[in-house]
Amino acid sequence: MSAQPTFLDTIRPHLPQDQLHAQTLEVIQVNLGLRCNLECQHCHLGASPRRSESMDQAVMERILALVAASGCRTVDLTGGAPEYHPLLRPFIERLSALQVAVQLRSNLAIFMETDESIASLPAFLRAHQVTLTASLPCYLPQNVDAQRGDGVYQQAIAALQRLNQLGYGLHSNLPLNLVYNPGKAHLPPSQRRLQEEYRRVLRQEHGIEFHQLFTMTNMPIGRFLADLRRTGTDQQYDQLLRDSFNPATLAALMCRTQISIRWDGALFDCDFNLALGWQAAVPEEACQPRYDPQRLAQRAVVTGKHCFACTAGCGSSCGGALAA
Ligand code: SF4
Ligand code: SF4
Repeated sequence: MSAQPTFLDTIRPHLPQDQLHAQTLEVIQVNLGLRCNLECQHCHLGASPRRSESMDQAVMERILALVAASGCRTVDLTGGAPEYHPLLRPFIERLSALQVAVQLRSNLAIFMETDESIASLPAFLRAHQVTLTASLPCYLPQNVDAQRGDGVYQQAIAALQRLNQLGYGLHSNLPLNLVYNPGKAHLPPSQRRLQEEYRRVLRQEHGIEFHQLFTMTNMPIGRFLADLRRTGTDQQYDQLLRDSFNPATLAALMCRTQISIRWDGALFDCDFNLALGWQAAVPEEACQPRYDPQRLAQRAVVTGKHCFACTAGCGSSCGGALAA
């Protein structure tokens, strides 16, 4: 059997250059740490309640300097559960002072924890007009609980209702977006149609409102890959992603406009390369003592076969589908 073409070989005929390059630095994604209240089946980061990795103040200062120097549009806070980070509030306050849009990725269930520092967080986020992008892998309880654990769906619904009471999902300055990913080894359905379906069910059954739904393709890395291997479907899934290659997704690949920064300050082209530990092709002198925004925005992107998940069908990114 002949070897499968690499991702770069596949996309090269569609690129103006021989290599995939970043083009700008619009979004800085910050992974604050790996501690999470959940331990989801599909988690590509292996986050869990037992992880303790956490960003320190010195790395946050370098990020704040990068935000100020780069003129980036958005800072996207993620984890683990970023809500657990002890410096989350002062970090958001300082980002807000830099006039940058702040987005926080939440699994929702965490907002139902009784600890006062977590319970009072939604009101703080509202005060700073932080965009909430929340994972809800399905609108049906059985599918969410199968991926995330028993009772997680009900916690997520209660959290969404509480966020609606605060105005999230209802007002344009308090965006509440949801993220779907398939429960199994298939591509997401049409984002537009699924958004309509989510809206109908969540509104009718629970009185919940949200702004947008983002569909994401499961990355064949981390726990999801382990699951594919366990069920003997890893090669089939790899072939599905390759067969579904869509060149119309290339212009919008998120690695072209953003960078991901790990809790220890290391740089990655995206959250998926971060999960794999594949660092961005940026020399040390462009990272220390400060990140150099020009060099970050012009780097060549490190690719691998998992990248086919971003270009399959309508494409996939942390902001949902990439092509109609
Ligand atoms: S997928 Fe998200 S919510 Fe689930 S364990 Fe990973 S970081 Fe936590
Ligand atoms: S996995 Fe990361 S590096 Fe690969 S195409 Fe997707 S965003 Fe770009």
